[in-house]
Amino acid sequence: MKIRQFFDPKSSTYTYLLWDDKTRKAALIDPVFEQISRDSKTIYELGLDLKFLLETHIHADHITGSGKLRQRFGASILVHENSGSQCADRLLKDGDMISLGDEEIKVLYTPGHTNTDISYLVDKTVFTGDTLLIRGSGRTDFQSGSAEDAYNSITKKLFTLDDSTLIYPGHDYEGRTQSSIGEEKQLNPRLGNKKSRAEYIDIMNSMNLPKPALIERAVPENLECGM
Ligand code: FE
Repeated sequence: MKIRQFFDPKSSTYTYLLWDDKTRKAALIDPVFEQISRDSKTIYELGLDLKFLLETHIHADHITGSGKLRQRFGASILVHENSGSQCADRLLKDGDMISLGDEEIKVLYTPGHTNTDISYLVDKTVFTGDTLLIRGSGRTDFQSGSAEDAYNSITKKLFTLDDSTLIYPGHDYEGRTQSSIGEEKQLNPRLGNKKSRAEYIDIMNSMNLPKPALIERAVPENLECGM
């Protein structure tokens, strides 16, 4: 699978374009509304056939570009079933497989940041959304978040992948672009070095972060696929 990473500077969101080189069938993970032109241009330039718009969760910090991109390319929107999204074309659950030409994308349900989080596994690369970030993890204090669920998702699911598995996160606020399972197991300050469940929950529950500026608008609009 070919992978291209894109960045939205306003929300610090990464969008990923994946495609099967042979059939040119493509999927876009977490498109951002403001970047629809950039993403479309790349898809046209590379001669790709966009099949899927994959959300890692219902976002609170930006509006998704999925609805508009579906109109433009006729692709399907896929999101976790817990979202109850009425606009999605397919609701996903743990273990589902998404075929992209000769390649397959595996759905791992990794809740905690919200109850709709999916990590997408392709070969030895995992797109972790906001579940596991580079040297961090997504906040768990709103939108049906749970520090305990996040701990289980990360330690029982993501950390059981091979150490060499490459991590592509949903955001980074310091310009880092990728990590690996082995690296985060060792170096993640919230989870690394065998930090206990209680320590993790304590860290997550004492963060006291302000609410995302866009949350009141973004969550309902994203349940409408950004339209
Ligand atoms: Fe998020």
